[in-house]
Amino acid sequence: MKKVLLLLLLITAPLAAGKLKVFTTIFPVYDLSRQVGGELCEVSMLIPPGTEAHSYEPTPKQIAGLGKCDLLIYTNPYMEPWIAKAARGAGMKPGDIVNSCENIVLLSATKGEEPDHQAYEGKDPHAWLDIGNAAKMTENIALAFERKDPANAAQYRRNAKAYEKALFEFDAAAKRAISGFKKKNFYFAGHFAYGYFVSRYGLSYTSPFKGFSPDAEPTPKALAKMSDEIKKDGATVIYREELLSSRLADALAAEGGLTVLELSAAHNVSKKELAKGLTLLSILRSNLSNLERGLK
Ligand SMILES: [Zn+2]
Repeated sequence: MKKVLLLLLLITAPLAAGKLKVFTTIFPVYDLSRQVGGELCEVSMLIPPGTEAHSYEPTPKQIAGLGKCDLLIYTNPYMEPWIAKAARGAGMKPGDIVNSCENIVLLSATKGEEPDHQAYEGKDPHAWLDIGNAAKMTENIALAFERKDPANAAQYRRNAKAYEKALFEFDAAAKRAISGFKKKNFYFAGHFAYGYFVSRYGLSYTSPFKGFSPDAEPTPKALAKMSDEIKKDGATVIYREELLSSRLADALAAEGGLTVLELSAAHNVSKKELAKGLTLLSILRSNLSNLERGLK
């Protein structure tokens, strides 16, 4: 209960004197920033809870308000293609706009993942789903906080190290668990968000979608093809994505007598999940346990 209250306070409290005011775009950078900032920062998330992250753009009112923060943390230019224009429009200094994926090599589209959105330029924006990248993003955020608030640099460093340690503990547990999976391919009724995740753990997945965002609905032909593959494979679980309708997963499940389980790429969380205190790490843990149910 105390945790929930604290979280609500962090989200809604007016700026306390001396605290860094940090705006973040979507959930992964929101979570990493509040882990690094701890008590020293007031971190808020621009995307409204429960909404789809790829099609999100800030409202004119939010853009006008960007100038009121000390730092604006975003994922990368492919996840938030609107960022440069919005921040310029708000008169922000370039140094206060932080690309959390700075120095991270982003994956390019592979076969079947043709990007459906010009903004992606063939790059997969879901970098946070590789633990090594999530740790680097944590580092980049900590560096930005240290630059802006050198007096508290040591604390930001400690907070970052603690979260990175927890991330790598999950990574080791995931590697152990996945090495024991009988099946290595899963079936996902959502967009191509898991390139980083599967390449880290030697898994693969099949999706009827075409690209890196949920905009492009699969064709009936692609759905039929996937349904056939599921039957041949003898899979018992179909995975659905977070927040969006489970209509496609439900249809495929009904056809093949499958169980529907959620895999969340953590683009965003619902209002209820936010209040419950979900973190990137807690989401990854629940994904791993759902994958165990389908692949073990
Ligand atoms: Zn996505």
